[in-house]
Amino acid sequence: MAVIKADAYGHGAIECGRVALEHGASHLAVARIWEAIRLRRAGITAPILVLGGPNPSTVDLAIEQKLTLSIGSERAVDLALSAASRHGKPLTVHLKLDTGLHRYGFLPELATGAARRLADHHLINLEGIYAHFSSADEQDARPTRLQIDRAHAIIDALEQQGINFKYIHLPNSAATITGMCGRSNLFREGIASYGLAPSPDVRLPDGILPVMSVRANATRIFDLPKGEGVSYGLTYTAKQTERAATVPIGYADGLPRSLSNCGWFSIQDIQCPVLGRVCMDQTVVRAPIGAQEYGSVIIAGDGSQGEMTLDDIARLSGTINYEIATRFSQRMPRVYIRDGNAAGYDFPSSTDL
Ligand SMILES: *Cc1c(COP(=O)(O)O)cnc(C)c1O
Repeated sequence: MAVIKADAYGHGAIECGRVALEHGASHLAVARIWEAIRLRRAGITAPILVLGGPNPSTVDLAIEQKLTLSIGSERAVDLALSAASRHGKPLTVHLKLDTGLHRYGFLPELATGAARRLADHHLINLEGIYAHFSSADEQDARPTRLQIDRAHAIIDALEQQGINFKYIHLPNSAATITGMCGRSNLFREGIASYGLAPSPDVRLPDGILPVMSVRANATRIFDLPKGEGVSYGLTYTAKQTERAATVPIGYADGLPRSLSNCGWFSIQDIQCPVLGRVCMDQTVVRAPIGAQEYGSVIIAGDGSQGEMTLDDIARLSGTINYEIATRFSQRMPRVYIRDGNAAGYDFPSSTDL
């Protein structure tokens, strides 16, 4: 199950969803119903699980669009049953368990009653059951072990009552890598699908590389005179005359402002430190002598040309790579590369402007 919520962690949900399905994913998952509807409008007919709970204003859309709902509260059971009856149409659902994350899902003692109500309704297809781990990306395996044990106890009890599931899915990326998957036959893969490690404690297998690189072309190459400051607040002063490049990317594009005076870009394979503050739309970096105006600047990628990785950016700005990936914004045009060639573009089209 390819998790492509938040526009595929900033990578483009429609393209990533299609690629995942071509390469063996049986299901897609998103967080919100609107994300799923966007995929349907793009012509994607595969099963889509909405991870977040349904609400009264969107449950009808879920039925119309043949989405799979996560049911994790009594109120959500009510919604699912009444909407299915009202439409007279089947509704596929996965029962969401709260085995310890305590975010969404049924506590163990409430799960059986809810499963019974869903299973007894002739229009509800209770296809799956799942839970989400709190700490699968950490070294201590005990919380994950406990969550697996709790999920198994519920699933066993339901099976004894004759309620069986086509899909059981406990693991996220981290648990898939560490193998803490319990009885699962479906795997919700998010961060690792984008070539990003779930955490410093859970590394990716060798050969899996980041999908995203972030690039721009320098808009100006100039010599910053000795003693002059640069960018808002003049927080960096040139100790001697130095070559600099203005790059059209800023915090409105998702580059953290906290990289001011501490991140770096790559120009001609050379690490070029950020000079002064990251602005909303532009950033100034030191440039090699041979830097060209309109020449390529790599802001982030797999690090093979000296650029920051998303892990570097996350570390320097006190967050996780998930947040860095998801915040690279819609304002930046996307180019999809397949087998080394540009295979698609996602530019703001004239009709969107
Ligand atoms: C986001 C999410 C995932 C994917 O997690 P990764 O760590 O990115 O693999 C899986 N399941 C649920 C419920 C999620 O919200």
